[in-house]
Amino acid sequence: MDLGVTGRVALVTAASKGLGRAAAAALAQEGAKVVICARGADALAEAEAELAASTEVLGVVADVTDPGAPRRLVDATVERFGRLDILVANAGGPPAARSLEVDDAQVLDAVNANLLTSVRLVREAVPHMRAGGWGRICLITSSSIKQPIPTLSLSNTARTGLWAWAKTAAGDLFDDGITLNLACPGSHATDRMKAIALPKGPLGDPAAFGRIVAFLCSEPAKFMSGSTVLVDGARSLGLV
Ligand code: NAP
Repeated sequence: MDLGVTGRVALVTAASKGLGRAAAAALAQEGAKVVICARGADALAEAEAELAASTEVLGVVADVTDPGAPRRLVDATVERFGRLDILVANAGGPPAARSLEVDDAQVLDAVNANLLTSVRLVREAVPHMRAGGWGRICLITSSSIKQPIPTLSLSNTARTGLWAWAKTAAGDLFDDGITLNLACPGSHATDRMKAIALPKGPLGDPAAFGRIVAFLCSEPAKFMSGSTVLVDGARSLGLV
């Protein structure tokens, strides 16, 4: 299937490793030009070099949860490539904690990283998408929005808020040719997963997850918006 993103410009945040990197790689393989960011310069340079084999790429060292970072990243993208068509908003996940262990500061940190960061990125990206009459936004969240994970109360809390905001925003954006969907991973073989859990059963392949994100950001997915796409090997038990 031709995803129709050749020559499109994509910003993928938190993308030197794991699921963000896989999403950037999948979009690059489909012919999109890609901007990636991460805090650590070494892994970012390594990812940039790998992506450069298939596309034009710009790596920006940035902490995406810094309130000023989304604007700087969008500006850097437009300065380098002249446009912005695709946003894949990703950030590191919050620490593990059960619900009654968390203090106010931890909840606020999680809301900043895993709710507000995506809201800020979308807000900065949308004017450029509207200018081009076309846009694709994918927020990488978690299967925890479908079935809360007892040891990840911070993730459960911040990401369900993001889900509600995103569902509203999808309706506000659709008539402008912009779609917004959530990709909800669970149990993928990344550094994060190894650090917080030892899931039973087969693990998801980040590269395959990246291709699902690329599809959500594609031309054929143009009537798909406001959806949550669960990619968790059938582990979540809810019906929604
Ligand atoms: P990962 O393997 O640990 O990779 C995280 C990537 O994000 C790295 O490139 C990291 O680079 C970058 N990053 C982290 N915090 C950042 C920040 N503040 N600013 C910029 N870059 C940042 O994690 P992952 O498994 O791919 O997870 C990605 C997201 O999906 C997380 O929110 C995670 O909670 C969520 N998730 C993953 C799974 C799964 O199955 N893997 C399941 C549910 C939810 P630096 O550290 O150098 O910045």
